[in-house]
Amino acid sequence: MNRKGILFVVSGPSGVGKGTLREKLMETPLDGLIYSISATTRKPRSGEVDGRDYFFSDVKTFESLIAADELLEWALVYNNYYGTPKRFVFNNLEKGIDVLLEIDIQGALKVKSLIPDGVFVFVLPPSLEELGKRLNTRGKDSPTEIERRLACYEDEISYIGNYDYVVVNDNVLEAAEKIRAIIIAERCSAKRL
Ligand code: 5GP
Repeated sequence: MNRKGILFVVSGPSGVGKGTLREKLMETPLDGLIYSISATTRKPRSGEVDGRDYFFSDVKTFESLIAADELLEWALVYNNYYGTPKRFVFNNLEKGIDVLLEIDIQGALKVKSLIPDGVFVFVLPPSLEELGKRLNTRGKDSPTEIERRLACYEDEISYIGNYDYVVVNDNVLEAAEKIRAIIIAERCSAKRL
């Protein structure tokens, strides 16, 4: 049966483990699902590879992508630009390939306004305390930055109503399996025929 691809958007507050979840999910790839690599002006972290983890770019190049309308959505996340290459997403959806985005909440809301029949998954931490612990132990952010991210949390979870599914990330393996189950179920949805 010919069908267009489905856009899956995994999103949620910073530090909730979306990236790890997405990596876990893609470790055992699902046939017909492709991950959309974002562009960013953030500097690569150790071990990150250009073209695999992100398309790392400078501010000028990123702003030219915005000006040329090459991005489906973009957002300034903690002072760095992040954005989703538009053509990649639409080309794959047209070919019937499902596309996975892992983006922040502002970006997900923009995508929802453009592609309302996408599937939107909100990833929650087990608790605010746990989120604080995770931000501290991953050691990527200064104490002030962590305070700032935690302060955003309440505002961010108020957007849950815009999403189709909520997955609590208390165990990465289980949470990734839940996302896999969501993808499989949506592929079987009669609504999409
Ligand atoms: P990190 O710098 O830790 O890789 O990502 C920081 C945040 O940016 C995460 O919440 C991640 O989901 C989000 N992010 C990554 N790529 C994109 C994107 O293309 N668009 C938007 N809006 N957010 C993104």
